[in-house]
Amino acid sequence: MSPAARAETVFVNGNFLTMDADRSRVSALAVTGDRIVSVGAEAEALGEHPATTIVDVQGRTVVPGLIDAHAHIELMTYSRNFFGDVRELDADVILAQLGRQVAEAPAGTWIVLQGTFGQGFPTLSQLDAVAPDHPVAIRWSMHKYQLNSAAMRVSGISSRTVAPPGSRIQRDSSGRPTGVLEEGWDLLAWEAPVSAILAPLLEQTLREHFLANGVTTVNEVAASAAGVRAFRHLAGQRTIPRIGLALTCGPGHQALTSAEQLPALGIETGFGDDWCQIQGLKIFLDGGRDGALRSSGLSGPADGWGLLSRTPQTLAQEVTVAVEGGVQVWVHAIGDLAQEIAVSAVEQAVRANPGTPHRTRIEHLTNEMYAPERLHRLLAAGGIAVPNPGLIVAEPSDPGDRLPPGVPKYALRTLLDAGGIVPGNSDTSGAQPFTCNPWYVMGCMLTRQNKHGVVLDPAEALTVDEALSSFTRDAAYATSQERSRGTLEPGKLADFVVIDQDPYADGVDIASTRALATVVGGHVLHGSV
Ligand SMILES: [Zn+2]
Repeated sequence: MSPAARAETVFVNGNFLTMDADRSRVSALAVTGDRIVSVGAEAEALGEHPATTIVDVQGRTVVPGLIDAHAHIELMTYSRNFFGDVRELDADVILAQLGRQVAEAPAGTWIVLQGTFGQGFPTLSQLDAVAPDHPVAIRWSMHKYQLNSAAMRVSGISSRTVAPPGSRIQRDSSGRPTGVLEEGWDLLAWEAPVSAILAPLLEQTLREHFLANGVTTVNEVAASAAGVRAFRHLAGQRTIPRIGLALTCGPGHQALTSAEQLPALGIETGFGDDWCQIQGLKIFLDGGRDGALRSSGLSGPADGWGLLSRTPQTLAQEVTVAVEGGVQVWVHAIGDLAQEIAVSAVEQAVRANPGTPHRTRIEHLTNEMYAPERLHRLLAAGGIAVPNPGLIVAEPSDPGDRLPPGVPKYALRTLLDAGGIVPGNSDTSGAQPFTCNPWYVMGCMLTRQNKHGVVLDPAEALTVDEALSSFTRDAAYATSQERSRGTLEPGKLADFVVIDQDPYADGVDIASTRALATVVGGHVLHGSV
């Protein structure tokens, strides 16, 4: 292509927030193919690249396409399309709704209901009374379920079943399962949809919850082979955001691969194309918030301890092999002991691979802080902490009821002050679908308010610029995509969002921002410019 090649489109009369290192604002942006070729004043952008099409943005604000660094699109799609919604409902209302579903569905049909964190659910015996012949699972989050007896029966869960490493079948004092299952979705005989059924539903989730909010890249914790196939298919159609896939490593739930497999095949982070690429590996080390491996939980019998899917040695070996093979690892670690095992694994992997670049992530680190020293060790080893500010909303009215005392929680300011970044993410599998809206999560970063109106550690709040960086620059870096995404600069992908307000303007509530048009690779995939 000659340097005088014409830009196909020049967008003019805009308030483009480039999010470059100087936070430059420009009025025009030129696009050729799927790339930005210049940004600047209108005369410059037009002069350098005479356009075939000129689009007037009418003074509106434009930001780089938003990047979600950790999402569960497939699980959320199950929740939207196959589960009944019982979020925030009382137990008796849930039972009434369940009764109606039981009356309509043939015996033996699974009924799965979606609740939310900390909600009170009907007990095993209450569920059995209403649904003796239908397997029922009610979901707090992907980490924890309340089952009825029929669900346990058809899934082969009995008093004699020993849960696999990292999961738990809770029991009463006589040893009988109570129906509460942690990290055990894979143990259930619920039949997951095949790709052909899943693909249009994933597309709908991606359009309504991601493109509609200005998200142009989503990094997904892949939940099944059918899902991977469906994402690959959709990416070929160019109608969804760009997808990065983190493949979950067994042992543990949603297992799709092992740490050795991708390096053995020569598959590194970034394998694929701009629309769908392998991001890396996801390792669930401990459980969800109730099954987190905390030192404070070790005082009673071991069947009540936090969960652990593998030994410290196994994790260190997995991270070492991945770093050597150029594969990024995301380690889920919530409790202090799990975080210690994870940080230590990163340190061992770095010692074994001196000088090898890596961006090993610890997911959820700084949601629950215990000791800032551990964060400093991770950052010194080249790792990345990925907190989830959208979960602040789910904390109880007295956050001290759940969170360990002493150090700040959702310690975003502490993380930035230590030299880290805050990669923006939704991290919901359906319990809080509203966190798929990055503007909502940015609001959480600023206000830090839970659903009871309690503000958590206000000194940890971020600024508007830091919140916007989180879903652009920081999320791009955390997914090794900063060369092609995260700012509006020449050479990068033409992914951007036209929004209805300037988030930096005085008095603006960032959470209320709406995406008027979402452009991916120069094509408008949501709204209109
Ligand atoms: Zn997650």
